[in-house]
Amino acid sequence: MKTFDFAQPTTVDEALAAWEPGSAWLGGGTNLVDLMKIGAMAPDKLIDIKRLTGLDQIETLADGSTRIGAMVSNADLANNPDILRRFPMMAEALLSGASGQLRNAATVSGNLMQRTRCAYFQDANAACNKRSPAQGCDAIGGVDDTAAILGWSNQCIATNPSDFCVSLAALEAVIEVQGPAGKRDIAFADFHLLPEDTPERETALQAGELILALRLPAEAGDFAGNSRYLKVRNRTSFAFATSSAAAAMQIKDGTITKARLALGAVAAKPWRVAKAEALLIGQAPDPALFAQAAEAALAGASSSNDNDWKIELARRTASRALVLAAAGTPARMPALPASPFVDQGDSLNA
Ligand code: SF4
Repeated sequence: MKTFDFAQPTTVDEALAAWEPGSAWLGGGTNLVDLMKIGAMAPDKLIDIKRLTGLDQIETLADGSTRIGAMVSNADLANNPDILRRFPMMAEALLSGASGQLRNAATVSGNLMQRTRCAYFQDANAACNKRSPAQGCDAIGGVDDTAAILGWSNQCIATNPSDFCVSLAALEAVIEVQGPAGKRDIAFADFHLLPEDTPERETALQAGELILALRLPAEAGDFAGNSRYLKVRNRTSFAFATSSAAAAMQIKDGTITKARLALGAVAAKPWRVAKAEALLIGQAPDPALFAQAAEAALAGASSSNDNDWKIELARRTASRALVLAAAGTPARMPALPASPFVDQGDSLNA
């Protein structure tokens, strides 16, 4: 690991003043430090933001929205009683990620900023346009079941690995940031970028901007009764998604009045599918309808590697997540959150 400077500010103003080109913000360090150890990231300066005051709160604002500080841990957020009651799909997504120990250390903003798990990105000896622009991409023509089926380019076929972010896309979160030019909000849909010709640019953050918090609008609470996050992976815990889906509905008198659907592990960003949502609104919940919506969600998908199989897997994941959401949010979190391998019925509460 190369040497680097280290700053430990206690206020946001101090942190912003400490930033200079080549710096990286250090939250829980569960991703960044690993990447530094293997040489995939090499910042000149780390700015530790864990001691910043006021970034570890979860609060309800006057307009009914929920504000979650950037330094709230994944574990504290997922187990907060109000979050579990109002946004159970988000809690299910959080609890399906990593391990208990990692969730204790990992933070909200770190989850938003985590890098791809593309095996070639993590191999400092492989060509990677994301690590080194214009170097090439060894994943194209390589072997990696994380590769994208939507929104990829001939520069990069990596996917975003976050579970949490898939639920945030479905719930229309807003991200609060502060930088040299002041504060601004970024709609979650605009936060992560597709690779196009610049895969090294992953988010809409400008140089020196720091994530302060994210907000869930009051409307996100409308989906509490019918929302699920479903995750398919190579083993039942401590693995990244091969395919995932966040599905949420509001159902009144047997009719779907609101619908949200976002796919995970299929693109460089969580993939919200408004076209599929539109098919659901005004209809009665029905597996055939959900299969039709899932079909629409994957329209335009294409293999980026030897991964045609992933298109069908993502389609089935989306369809099944909608079926589960329509059946109702479990009264208690499943023992294996988001897993398709558990009994999804009453035994969840055993
Ligand atoms: Fe790098 Fe993207 Fe290619 Fe992976 S897919 S090696 S992250 S450029």
